[in-house]
Amino acid sequence: MRYVSTRGGVSPISFSKAVMMGLAEDGGLLLPERIPTVTDEQLRAWSQLSFQDLAVAVMTPFLTPGEAVTAQLPELVRRAFATFTHPEITPVIRAGNHWILELFHGPTLAFKDVALQFLGNLFEALLAEEKGRLNILGATSGDTGSAAIHGVRGRAGIEIFILHPHGRVSPIQERQMTSVLDANVHNIAIRGSFDDGQRIVKELFNDLPFKQHYRLGAVNSINWARILAQIVYFYYAWGRVTGGDPGKRVVFSVPTGNFGDIFAGYMALRMGLPVERLVLATNRNDILVRFMESGEYRIGAAQPTISPSMDIQISSNFERYLYYLLDEDPEAVQGAMKRLDAERFFAVSASQRQAAGEIFAARRVEEEETLQRIRLSWEQDRVLVDPHTAVGLEAAQPFPGAISLATAHAAKFGDAVQRAVGFPPEMPPALAGMMERPSRCHVLDPDPHLVRALMREVLD
Ligand SMILES: *Cc1c(COP(=O)(O)O)cnc(C)c1O
Repeated sequence: MRYVSTRGGVSPISFSKAVMMGLAEDGGLLLPERIPTVTDEQLRAWSQLSFQDLAVAVMTPFLTPGEAVTAQLPELVRRAFATFTHPEITPVIRAGNHWILELFHGPTLAFKDVALQFLGNLFEALLAEEKGRLNILGATSGDTGSAAIHGVRGRAGIEIFILHPHGRVSPIQERQMTSVLDANVHNIAIRGSFDDGQRIVKELFNDLPFKQHYRLGAVNSINWARILAQIVYFYYAWGRVTGGDPGKRVVFSVPTGNFGDIFAGYMALRMGLPVERLVLATNRNDILVRFMESGEYRIGAAQPTISPSMDIQISSNFERYLYYLLDEDPEAVQGAMKRLDAERFFAVSASQRQAAGEIFAARRVEEEETLQRIRLSWEQDRVLVDPHTAVGLEAAQPFPGAISLATAHAAKFGDAVQRAVGFPPEMPPALAGMMERPSRCHVLDPDPHLVRALMREVLD
């Protein structure tokens, strides 16, 4: 398989190159040149596989024959998921007349571990191959930073620098990052907001001599390998729920922010997984719901909610879907993105909007409904869900039998859960004692020069 950019400015590159490139060099996102397809025979056979064997089966057609990591895939998969505490990796449980796909059994108890544990192993293998080094730099409001740190801690050839807003992430999230004491992990608390952190990271990435000299890499969800790893659990859940009958179609409900997770579901569908509908569930940051309703993608102001990992203004992965919606025409994508930059909106035609509506059922869920759903899920089904999962469950209500993706463990968002049910969720072993662990963190003023100086000191 080779990879191209949604904006048409990258000549086809291999899987390894696409992973190392992250964001396409023309500012677009990388996608496979064509979408591999699965047969009914494969669907039946795959439904019998373990998560790890399924991962190898699903990912293999997306790799490039002859590359070193292609031969190493089974070993990379084995190592990535050895850190999960559930034998099934992503088990599916029954909750009343719905299903819940639990994606939170990794080291940081959020679904981002599925992709970032894989990406960490993949980066290490690619760097060993080229005898290179990579310095990962990112800003986080919580979940992504800790999952990325746990994905690369202690790995050869990789240093990671993660900025978070000082005192403005939850105490547990802060400890999940700063209690990782491996020498290659560098936490930086910025005296300011998440936006200050993001602005600094952008500035350093735009400093091309600095970026090239230190080979800066990104780990946000624009990396193709993250999407690829996430395709696997859609197949896994389908197999568990249908028993592998290709005639049985299912509905997935996906709590959505940056459109990474639900785009993986869309790829699974395009490959041939029998999917009836993808429920696109958002909190009040509803740019995607408004798009599905009106055909207009219009940037609003980000608003804080009790499901903070979905508090976004722009969904960075949406451009990947737009590419397919606009008939794989890079010029049309470029046009839409230019307009978005200049006027903060673009629109698609009525027939394109209708085509999107046949695949996605979009629904915005209010804060009160989210709390209510946490309560109902506990009272009716004795399942305690986190606020992100609750958004998906609420949006799935019109679809009995739907599979809702559980994207975080309830204990990660204990305050909201306690508000809903009146008691705090039980701490899983991974979090127990977390607040007493020793931690390490640099605290800096929101100034790019200070971050640059710190990175130089560490790396030179
Ligand atoms: C990141 C995240 C989401 C949103 O996923 P996207 O791929 O950005 O749409 C949902 N829930 C939790 C807990 C997350 O960490």
